[in-house]
Amino acid sequence: MSQPELSVVIPVYNEEAGLQRLFDRLYPALDALSISYEIIFVNDGSRDRSAAILADQFRLRPDVTRVVLFAANFGQHMAIMAAFEHSRGDKVITLDADLQNPPEEIGRLVDKLREGYDYVGTIRRQRQDSLFRRYASRMINRIREKTTRIRITDQGCMFRGYARNVVEMVNACKEVSTFVPALAYTFAKRPVEIEIGHEERAAGESKYSFYSLIRLNFDLMTAFSLVPLQLVSLTGMLLSVLSVATYIIVILQRLVTRGLSDGIYVVWDRDILQFFLTGVMLFSLGLIGEYVGRIYQQVRPRPRYIVEALLESGNRADRSPAATLPAAAAFPASQSTRHAS
Ligand code: UDP
Ligand code: MG
Repeated sequence: MSQPELSVVIPVYNEEAGLQRLFDRLYPALDALSISYEIIFVNDGSRDRSAAILADQFRLRPDVTRVVLFAANFGQHMAIMAAFEHSRGDKVITLDADLQNPPEEIGRLVDKLREGYDYVGTIRRQRQDSLFRRYASRMINRIREKTTRIRITDQGCMFRGYARNVVEMVNACKEVSTFVPALAYTFAKRPVEIEIGHEERAAGESKYSFYSLIRLNFDLMTAFSLVPLQLVSLTGMLLSVLSVATYIIVILQRLVTRGLSDGIYVVWDRDILQFFLTGVMLFSLGLIGEYVGRIYQQVRPRPRYIVEALLESGNRADRSPAATLPAAAAFPASQSTRHAS
């Protein structure tokens, strides 16, 4: 496989039910574009038959298929980062494995990249997700707009195109917890957004639980902004000033109206105030913890992900992108197909 013009990147986690349908639409759609392309599937430690299905597909179309097999589940964004490191195309397009992003629209993203835009974002025309997901996502979008310099209308949609220069910059980042579209956006010189179709998941169910969605959004916020941290300290300061002021006013009021007859009970609604402040304090601690946790992860020189095997024609499995990382030294040389980054 010589250097293709287009790399299509697809993270796969427990998608056995829908993969065949994906192949049936993806390959014809790309063949119809008459563009030189490669498809990089990253099996993100699926526990179902996804890896085997991908290996079968590799054998069917080794000319354009490459498969990166993770040793465990490292998350959608790490899977995309790994695929970026392995990608060779001048243009890179990411999409989901569940056919929520119609492969037939890849051509439109390619056109934009050919026009010279180096980042093509997408806005889902009619988002086919639950009402809760749509509203929660709208709210998070708004908060992000206010706290970061990242302008992405529809952050949840992974159907995006990136020019090689942006991909190279992303590859230069060794971030542990990140959100690829936002990270890439920070490097884009000419970003653009287009409207795109969105379909219901073809098979299986969303791999994001409520919990992992919260995790993902904390990643997004903390990776690109210190504003939440600053807001907490500002709020904390404001609340302390307010509570002291309230306290003084209430005591003065009681002294004036009732004198010292109430004795020590001049303290007004202390319970509620304490309750409130405890909440604020716990939240602040938690938020600081979010940052500290990420600093801890980042300073620990552990591999961000482990590639167990690489399926590609003329397998170059020992071409380790992590050879430059100190973490790679932690793995014995005998495991040449396992490389870490
Ligand atoms: N995915 C992944 N690793 C994970 C979770 C998801 O590679 O830990 C993949 C998944 O297989 C799919 C894409 O990321 O291709 C988007 O996941 P999903 O459709 O479940 O997310 P949603 O559309 O609900 O946001
Ligand atoms: Mg989906």
